[in-house]
Amino acid sequence: MVVPDARESVLIVGSVALDTVETPAGRVERALGGAAVYSSVAASFFAPARGVGVVGAAFPRQHLEFLAGRGVDIRGIKIVDGKTFHWAGSYEGDMNQANTLATELNVFQSFAPDLPEDYKDSKYVFLANIDPALQLDVLDHVRNPKLTACDTMNFWISSKPDELKKVLARVDIAFVNDAEARQLTGEVNITKAATEIRKLGPRYVIIKKGEHGSLMYCDSDYCFSAASYPLTEVVDPTGAGDSFAGGCMGYMASVDDFTEANLRRAIVYGSTLASFNVQGFSLSKFREITRADVENRYREFQKIAFFDGA
Ligand code: AMP
Repeated sequence: MVVPDARESVLIVGSVALDTVETPAGRVERALGGAAVYSSVAASFFAPARGVGVVGAAFPRQHLEFLAGRGVDIRGIKIVDGKTFHWAGSYEGDMNQANTLATELNVFQSFAPDLPEDYKDSKYVFLANIDPALQLDVLDHVRNPKLTACDTMNFWISSKPDELKKVLARVDIAFVNDAEARQLTGEVNITKAATEIRKLGPRYVIIKKGEHGSLMYCDSDYCFSAASYPLTEVVDPTGAGDSFAGGCMGYMASVDDFTEANLRRAIVYGSTLASFNVQGFSLSKFREITRADVENRYREFQKIAFFDGA
């Protein structure tokens, strides 16, 4: 499924995982997951994605076929001897915070990305959650990107803060959630934390606040606030942040015209994708929906956010 009207594709590096997840709605074992997977499938609703990552020899081939069928170029996803990255987590109560039970990096521990030559000319680059050293490596190999963005998580903020700061110094957009923004800067106030992160490099900082929506900070004297879609049932929040960022970057690549107005639209598209993703375990909801469903929900976002400022 290649989106015909997309102007550019998005290069995405990040984890390709098997996830064991438990939420109040149920449990899945070693289901398809990983930041690069959620974000590239979300991006693929708007533009072709180019995946960079690694999986172990026993990684189910149907997962790779699913990605390829979504228009994700999988030539950058290596299959090597060893075990696939495995993450186990659980959620309770409002499900806004994942409890990590296990992070087994496995094949990611010795992975060195080897980008197919044509990937190096990618104009849109999303460094999804993975070791910041790998994010840097990919950035080093892309020749002349137009828009670069990164995501991360508490695991890397505490284990590789220096590498992460090097990544932040080189990207245009940083996606972080509220807890990560506080952890990264030591600032409790989110607006102050965003200002501190912007001082590290990114022109735009997008703070994800789970069910409370997101905030974009930039150098004009305002920021943008997007709602999250008010769902009556959340099944599994895993990958919401990745879907948000992937949807956002996919939309930006599809229009290939960087304006703040487009970035605002991209954020609402990202929120749309995230809202679908949390309605099922793993990528089950993304397997069901179409671009038309995305457009319908995007319009609902417009309705719920309408405000007459007169
Ligand atoms: P999110 O819920 O959007 O923050 O992302 C969840 C995804 O991140 C899961 O599918 C995990 O496989 C993946 N993940 C969890 N921990 C890590 C980590 N330390 N590095 C990279 N990816 C991770």
